[in-house]
This record gives sequence, structure tokens and C-alpha cells, in this order.
Amino acid sequence: EAWWPEDDDKDRPLPSSVKVRVPAKINLHLGVGPLRRDGYHELHTVYHAISLYDEVTARRGDTLTLTMEGVGAGSLALDDSNLIIKAARALAESAKVPAHARLHLRKSIPLAGGLAGGSADAAATLIACDALWGTGYSREDLARIAATLGSDVPFLIHGGTALGTGRGEAVSPVLARAYTWHWVVAIADGGLSTPEVYRELDRLRLGADAPSAAGSPDALFTALRQRDPAVLAPTLGNDLQPAALSLRPALAETLDAGTKAGALAALVSGSGPTCVFLARDPGHAAEVAAAVEAAQVCRTVQVAHGPVVGARVI
Ligand code: ATP
Repeated sequence: EAWWPEDDDKDRPLPSSVKVRVPAKINLHLGVGPLRRDGYHELHTVYHAISLYDEVTARRGDTLTLTMEGVGAGSLALDDSNLIIKAARALAESAKVPAHARLHLRKSIPLAGGLAGGSADAAATLIACDALWGTGYSREDLARIAATLGSDVPFLIHGGTALGTGRGEAVSPVLARAYTWHWVVAIADGGLSTPEVYRELDRLRLGADAPSAAGSPDALFTALRQRDPAVLAPTLGNDLQPAALSLRPALAETLDAGTKAGALAALVSGSGPTCVFLARDPGHAAEVAAAVEAAQVCRTVQVAHGPVVGARVI
């Protein structure tokens, strides 16, 4: 069996193909502060990576190309507007290598679903092209490039459960003893535009007592350490939920179906329209999923667990 000491890594031949799996995220807490001068909102968010995955494969090529299969095939643009292409170019520019690769996306994370699928793909591309090109960047280096691509991208390099501050791009891991949480994910028909949901929140806050700072997730942190879903449930929260509900009133029925099905908590994921429900254990998650499915309040229902690791070569 071959064995290489760490130091010899750079002498190993570069792979001809690299496959990376990357999870979706939900926000266990999304505290949205006031609008900043740069057009972003100040956030305090707790990201949580769940077992719903996209896959990006990078192969050697003479130019940069992107193909895809799965969710969104035929509707998602595969040109320079795609975050995968942007990520490959950003890495190539930083590492001063030609941006040459044949990239392929296998997509399961719904588009514009509030699960950060596009950001996940960007993170996967950074990890895949780093390995393909032998760039030798650390995860921290890649997270710095990731922050230039989008607020959620650095988190998806790391995964797990993490606090995001700034506009969400500054991430630090939440240290908690290992525990797996069980979720039911209700995927809606069609997406919601993240910038539109933030604009709707600003509109709803006009004249009301807008917060002077993003709400802190302290209660959630305490609950995460207790490893009891019933204790975690009341600490979950999303400031974007009223805005998502205002743009898509039917989501109230989806949330309601989860609550009636016995979920411990029901909330909109990020900017929506995906809704997530907390379950006690895998059996309970399956029960809640079946009941939500039967209520016919969304396109598909999936069970997932978290936290899981971020973008990784498989
Ligand atoms: P977030 O929660 O980060 O706001 P989201 O889950 O609501 O994201 P995404 O699917 O990540 O939404 O992306 C939103 C938009 O980004 C898409 O509608 C599409 O126009 C664009 N986009 C660019 N590249 C990608 C990609 N690889 N996958 C998905 N969307 C992409």
C-alpha cells in the first residue's frame, strides 16, 4: 500500500479528475441588523450544513467549460454569470494559473431556495480546482477567495455549525459536543430572490421600530450545547421570515403543516421559500416528512441531518 509523508504531497502527480461534494445550508438563527452604507445588512447568523448535496467534478481541459445535470438543468445559465465559472476564474487569477478545466455540476439543491446552492457550488469549485491545479492553498486561503464570491461561500468551505458576522462572510465555528440534529426540508415550487426578500424586510420595517443591531444568537448557543431538540426548538429564528411570508403568503400553510405534523419547530430557511422543520430523531423526521408530503403544501419533502462537513473531495 502506498504511503506518502505530508511533505511529499507537492511531488505527487496532479489528478486528472477531482469530484467534490458540498452540502446545503440552513440558518438556525438569522438576525438582520440595519442596512449598511455598502448596501448590505449587518448579520448575526448561525449557519448549519445539512445532508443535501451538490457535486462538482473538475477535469483537465484546454479552456473553461461547464455542464450540468439534475435540478435546474435547462434553466440555470452555464455562462460567466454562473458562480462556478466565477469561482474557477477567481482561483486561477489568484494562483496565477490558466483557468482551464472541464467542470460538471450534479445539482440536487433547489435554485433560489434559501439553501445557498449557488454559494455551495462556488465553494465546491474552489476545492475542486485547487486540487486539479495543485494550487496548494489552505482552507483559510480558499475561504478568503470565497468571501469575494458571496457572503455564504466561506461557510460552505468549512461546513458544520458556525457563526457568521459582517454580511455573513466572517465565519467562526460553533464549538459544541458532537450531536446530530434531524430536519425535514419542504422544497417549494419556484424560488425567491434573496435581494428582493431583503428589500421587502426593509419595506416592512419602515416606520416600525427597526433594530439598531442584529439580534444575538446567545440563547441558541446555550441550547446547542444541551443536545436536546425540545430545548433547541424555541431558540430557532429567522428575521427574514416575515418578509418571505409577505412575498409568498402560501408559505404560512407549509409552516402550519409542519407544526400540525408534530415538528418541534417550523421556520423559513434563509430567504426562503424552503421551509425546515426540527424533528426529535430519524423516525420522527420520517413521520413529519410523510405528513407534510400528504398535506400537499410544497413540491417535495426530504429528510436531512446536520451538521455535516463542508465542501470535500470524494
Ligand atoms: P442564498 O440562500 O445564498 O441567497 P439561494 O439558495 O436562495 O441562495 P441560489 O440557488 O444559491 O439561491 O442562487 C440564486 C441565484 O444565483 C440563482 O437564481 C441563479 O440566478 C444564480 N446562480 C449563479 N450560479 C448558480 C449556481 N451554480 N447554482 C444556483 N444558482 C446560481
